[in-house]
Amino acid sequence: MAKEAKLPQLIDRKIYKTGQTRGADDDEIYQNRVSRSSTVLIPLAHFQNCQVPADGTSEYSSGFITLVPPSWYFSRKNPNEELKGMGLSLGSNCLIFFEDRNDWVMAEKQISKWTPATSRTSPLGGQYIARISANTAINGGDKIQVGFTTTSKKGAGIRVYEYASTDTIKSCRIQLEAIMWLCRDAAETLEEMGMTRNEVKERRDLSIDKAEESGLLKKNELITLRILNKEGFACCPLCLDELSAAGFGTRLIQAAGREVADLTVTEISLFHIDELRVGTLGHRPYNLGWGHHHCNVVAKDSGIMPTLTWLQEIVDRNRSAGYNF
Ligand SMILES: [Zn+2]
Repeated sequence: MAKEAKLPQLIDRKIYKTGQTRGADDDEIYQNRVSRSSTVLIPLAHFQNCQVPADGTSEYSSGFITLVPPSWYFSRKNPNEELKGMGLSLGSNCLIFFEDRNDWVMAEKQISKWTPATSRTSPLGGQYIARISANTAINGGDKIQVGFTTTSKKGAGIRVYEYASTDTIKSCRIQLEAIMWLCRDAAETLEEMGMTRNEVKERRDLSIDKAEESGLLKKNELITLRILNKEGFACCPLCLDELSAAGFGTRLIQAAGREVADLTVTEISLFHIDELRVGTLGHRPYNLGWGHHHCNVVAKDSGIMPTLTWLQEIVDRNRSAGYNF
């Protein structure tokens, strides 16, 4: 069989990156842009909800680490027994996580014989980690970062709600590529981006077939979810405007110095239909589409319907105040 035709690099990267978590700063406990199948960090308060992944599988691909607040741990008579009752053991699948300077100072004696954790899999190599930001107040202090701070080991794991198994990541990529091909101008745009007509046809047919065979291209479902419009073309789940495949490669197009008009092409980003929150796993087939970057920024925190209600209120308030536009 001939080698599969390659997608333009920017589009390929964009689809690949959907399997990675978002960025994290150095002062956060999370890893920066790694696979969604990495070790998950579960705050103790969410442990009951999140101890097994909400995707029907029985365990997280790379395990989990439960983060126990020092205020919880040090206020208990027998915290290790309580943890054991939940199936947790300090240094094996849970750690004390210091985020507050007061907690850190108070616990100094208790943790003097402990060591910071060093491994994301059991045994974790220690009992605690810390990420305390610098404090500029009168009694302030320098930032405190203990555990998982070296370049190769930065971050203890990923946000639990960003998790997806390797299989799920793969299914999502198959579905998202097929949706990209369902942009009305996909074929001509990808040709402009450097694929030959034959390569476009070959790759598109392969992508659509693969998605259909895997049950990932149920059009009616995708239309109900606002991922495709009624004509079956890819649209933005918030504004419902059809997407141009050029939006996948805006930087490339700009670099190639295309017409000024094309510079207004809106950048496309991954769009979650149900917003991410602890206790559900948002990265799954039939919950992801492509949408305008700007629309995504607006809808990300509250979800599509509450955002539409909010936009309606803004328009109504402006109209009733006499501002016409
Ligand atoms: Zn939009």
